[in-house]
Amino acid sequence: MRKPLVAGNWKMNGSRESNIALVKGLLEGSSQIANAEILVCPSFVYITEVAKQLEGSSIAYGSQDVAKEEVGAYTGEISVGMLKDIGCSYAIVGHSERRALFGDTDVIVAQKFAAAQNGGILPVLCVGELLEEREAGQTEAVVERQLQAVVDLVGISALEKSVVAYEPVWAIGTGKTASPQEAQDVHAFIRGWISKEDAAVAEKVRILYGGSVKAANAKELFSQADIDGGLIGGASLAADEFISICEAAG
Ligand code: PEP
Repeated sequence: MRKPLVAGNWKMNGSRESNIALVKGLLEGSSQIANAEILVCPSFVYITEVAKQLEGSSIAYGSQDVAKEEVGAYTGEISVGMLKDIGCSYAIVGHSERRALFGDTDVIVAQKFAAAQNGGILPVLCVGELLEEREAGQTEAVVERQLQAVVDLVGISALEKSVVAYEPVWAIGTGKTASPQEAQDVHAFIRGWISKEDAAVAEKVRILYGGSVKAANAKELFSQADIDGGLIGGASLAADEFISICEAAG
């Protein structure tokens, strides 16, 4: 039985003040949620403060990215060792914004995945197609290519200690959500693809859906057989909305 996970990706939003209010709201609301795991991914600079506020709670915290290198002369980068040092348990890798805007290729994403896992942090591997790729009928091929790059580097069994997030790029921050059936079809494809290599891993790995999830559509999405929670951007910045999404998963 896979425990649902709802992850908030705060992106480059927030301030010390707004984070305190947001986390306060999450702490108040999360006490009613028993059957879903909650994760927040603040900007790097705020992780430590958010962690202090979350101390003693069941809400996990993680990062939005991680360096592929372990240590050394990589100005501006944050290593997995540093993230582990401050108690992160997850790191998002391969978010579509990083792929599109910061040059994260499939190979680099795979290296970041490996770095996170080797350093004891669970990678949340984002995959997903562009609108033109969906329209050209290439969704499965794109997702397969993105997964294959990771499997080529770390092997199929490594997926067991990770989370996959299917995020159609056309649905991220656009207000357009994949229909529950569209999302389920891709999730089933991903699980089936993993299963061809290792059925036990496929059964265990959580596959999140991301792309304009909100309280109003979360329940229907999360009730699909292969959707094990969500990766939430915009709606994770409002405590009440995010808690309602967590309730829908739990
Ligand atoms: C995301 O950035 O991962 C995301 C899913 O964003 P949003 O929920 O705002 O579409």
